[in-house]
Amino acid sequence: MLDEMRREPGVTRAAVARRLGLSTGSATEITSRLRDLALLAETPAAPASRGRPTSVLVPHPEGPVVIAVDLRQEDWRCAVAALDGRPVVADGGPHHSRAPERVIGTVARAVGRLRDRYGERVRAISVAVAATVRHGTVVQSSVLGWDAVDLAALAGNAVVPAPPTGDAADPAVPTGDAGGLIARVGDASAPLLVGNDATLAGLAEARHGVAAGAAAVLHVTVEVGVGGTLVLDGRPLHGATGAGGEFGHLPFGDPGLRCPCGASGCWDLEVDGRAIARHLGDPPPRDPRTYAEQALARAPADPAVRDAVGRAATRLGRGLAGLVNALDPAVVTLGGLAQPLRAAAEPEFTAALADGLMRFRRPAPPPVLPAALGRDGALHGAAVTGLDHVLTEDGLTAWAALRSST
Ligand SMILES: [Zn+2]
Repeated sequence: MLDEMRREPGVTRAAVARRLGLSTGSATEITSRLRDLALLAETPAAPASRGRPTSVLVPHPEGPVVIAVDLRQEDWRCAVAALDGRPVVADGGPHHSRAPERVIGTVARAVGRLRDRYGERVRAISVAVAATVRHGTVVQSSVLGWDAVDLAALAGNAVVPAPPTGDAADPAVPTGDAGGLIARVGDASAPLLVGNDATLAGLAEARHGVAAGAAAVLHVTVEVGVGGTLVLDGRPLHGATGAGGEFGHLPFGDPGLRCPCGASGCWDLEVDGRAIARHLGDPPPRDPRTYAEQALARAPADPAVRDAVGRAATRLGRGLAGLVNALDPAVVTLGGLAQPLRAAAEPEFTAALADGLMRFRRPAPPPVLPAALGRDGALHGAAVTGLDHVLTEDGLTAWAALRSST
């Protein structure tokens, strides 16, 4: 019933009962139990033309919430999401400095204010960050200019150290939790979960975006470089340590070019503002995203820019074909600048994608759709991950214990 409310905010009790095959009596009983646990509440539904009056299921006004944070290249946002999973932005702003301690300090204060306001209703703090994440710690971020950065301070006072790394073999990411990404720091009642922004945006598209309901969703996004994830049955494929999905570092590029990640020939360098600048003979842009946006705007009127954009769109299409061949998604979603890049050079993109597909796939390739959640995708994904944690058996047990103790 809670899953139905997450899937479709505003759903009525009658509709949920029908979908789950519940009798009216059972639906009433379950609803009443969930209401007693402060998990959901009901408001009268607009009268239907036929059938008995029913009610709309909504998150309980005293129910659990998660704090979702999106740490982007140029700014940050902090939101609160109740069990219907829709993040409501509460705070945010541009980075005045990208020094990690400054950024983390600012965001930690915002998280602290929300924790003061919502108290023990806060059941997780879930962070999307424009960085490669392993064991809930930032390993590196070229867009933020960060190397290893520990985000534990975002969890507030009661921080428990992250799992040890070092000489011993890396422990695998704990499984069985929400989407599985993720850090285990912070106090037990509201752990800190940290995920890569593109992974979380893909998760959000697969759970309640344009690819909702598809069993295998490939999400690819272009910002500075390429990111994304494969989401299988609503769970992102995160690998052994949480650092999976770094599609931008597949060697789909020129082996003569060294990527800031340390590898050579990365796809990253072929599809973003850096690639367009290279084709135009410009120096490497300080802000490749803005450079790319400006190039996309100029392309229709400037043949040289149009040609450079076309070359980047070709490399995007070719790379996508490789991922489709390898991963066999039902749907491909494009986030960030991937869709504008495709739209600016649709013929090149389409030809390169078709040409790179194995023959048997060409008659029925997966649809390639613009992401529905836009720049809010990562924030939605952080909320999804946090709520998945709340709704684990352990999470619900802890919530029920808290309710009975107050
Ligand atoms: Zn690379």
